[in-house]
Amino acid sequence: MIVNIMEISKELIELLKTLKKKKCVALLAPSFVVDFKYPKIIKTLKKLGFSRVSELTFAAKIINAEYRKILKTTKEPVICANCPSVVKMIESKHPKYVKYLADVGSPMVIMGRFIKKHFGKDNVCVFIGPCITKKIEALENKKDVDYAITFKELKDMIDYAKANKMFINIKNKKTNDFDKYYNDYTKIYPLAGAVAQTMHAKDILSKDQTISSDGPENLEKSLKKINKNIKFVDMLFCEGGCVGGPGIISNKSIDKKERKVRKYRDYCRKVKIGKSLGKQKLSSEISLRRV
Ligand code: SF4
Repeated sequence: MIVNIMEISKELIELLKTLKKKKCVALLAPSFVVDFKYPKIIKTLKKLGFSRVSELTFAAKIINAEYRKILKTTKEPVICANCPSVVKMIESKHPKYVKYLADVGSPMVIMGRFIKKHFGKDNVCVFIGPCITKKIEALENKKDVDYAITFKELKDMIDYAKANKMFINIKNKKTNDFDKYYNDYTKIYPLAGAVAQTMHAKDILSKDQTISSDGPENLEKSLKKINKNIKFVDMLFCEGGCVGGPGIISNKSIDKKERKVRKYRDYCRKVKIGKSLGKQKLSSEISLRRV
C-alpha cells in the first residue's frame, strides 16, 4: 500500500513505477555534489531502482572533442549549444546569431544517445540535474532522453520512496561506483566558462578569442561582443552557470557551490572512481548533431 505522507507529481509517480518495471539509467549531472553526497547518491539511486548510474561527464568529453574539431576548421564564431536556455533565447530573441549556434548536442542528449546505443534502446534514460529547461529539451529529443528531473524532484522521490518503503535491497559492493561511463576533468562543466577551460584547445583558441559568460543579463551583452576575432562563445544562462540552476536545492552562495564542484573534481582526479572512463573513439558510433 502506498502511503501519501507527501505529495509528488504524477511524472515522478510514473517514473517510480517505471523504475520497478524497466531498465533505467540515471544520467547524473556532476553538479549533484552541491545537493547530494558522493558516493552515497549512487547507492541511493540504485535503491530507487536505477540499473545503472552514469555521469554526464563522459558526454562532456565527447562534446569537447567535437568543438575542438569544429574550431580547427571554421572561420565563423561558434556559440556553444550546451545550455538549452541560451539556445532558446537566441532562437526567439536574437535570431541573427542563430547561424553561429553550434550543431552539437548538449551533454544530456549526447549521453542519452550514447547509452541507448551501447546498452540498448530499451534502456530508459533519466536525466537528473539542476535545470528546468532540460525538460523541454528532453521532450524535443524523446528518442534519446525519456525523463528529465531536477535535484529538487530527486529529493522528493527519495523522500517519497523512503516513506512508502519502496527502496530495493542492494547487497552488491559495486553499487558505490559509477557505471560506465564518466570522465574526471569535465566534472567542472556546470561552472561558468568551463567548456573553454576543459576543451584542451590552447593551440587553437586563445583567451581573447573566447567569450565566457553566465547570467541572463550578460547574454545579450556577450552576443554584442561577437566580432570577427571571436572564435568561441561559451555562455550559460543561469548566474554562476548550472550550479545556479533553478532545480538545485541548496541556497548557499554561488562561490560555495562552485567550491564543492571543484573539490569533487580534485578528489576524483586523485582517487580513481569506477572502473571505466570510456574511450573517446566509442563516440564515432553515434551522431553528435543537435537535431
Ligand atoms: S545554465 Fe541554467 S538553463 Fe543553462 S543548462 Fe545550466 S541549469 Fe540549465
